[in-house]
Amino acid sequence: MQDCLFCKIVKREIPADIVFEDDEVLAFNDINPQAPTHILVIPKRHIATLNDIEEPDQALVGKLPRVAARLAAERGFADAGYRVVMNCNDQGGQTVYHVHMHLMGGRRFTWPAG
Ligand code: 5GP
Ligand code: ZN
Repeated sequence: MQDCLFCKIVKREIPADIVFEDDEVLAFNDINPQAPTHILVIPKRHIATLNDIEEPDQALVGKLPRVAARLAAERGFADAGYRVVMNCNDQGGQTVYHVHMHLMGGRRFTWPAG
């Protein structure tokens, strides 16, 4: 996806503070953090929204919460707790149309969110 911001981060065409990478998944700090830790965990392959996940993508997308949990453990807040969020489309608050999981930790979150 030529014009996708997160694909450009995957290709190193735009800089990002990368905290995890393997062959399928990339994680980097959010540019506008909403918590002491705010990391975006993405599949390297372009998938626009949650609505576009197809059956063969399931294992790949399933890696996102596992990477998030590992990053939370590394940062010492896995047991205290944290929040993961995936926004879908306009009313869901999605602004970057490449599937991503927000990992936020280091403070208390309330529910329901606004
Ligand atoms: P969404 O609103 O789509 O769920 O989340 C998109 C996230 O991407 C936002 O939290 C926003 O701060 C973050 N973001 C937008 N542009 C950039 C960027 O260029 N670099 C990084 N690291 N994060 C970005
Ligand atoms: Zn993309």
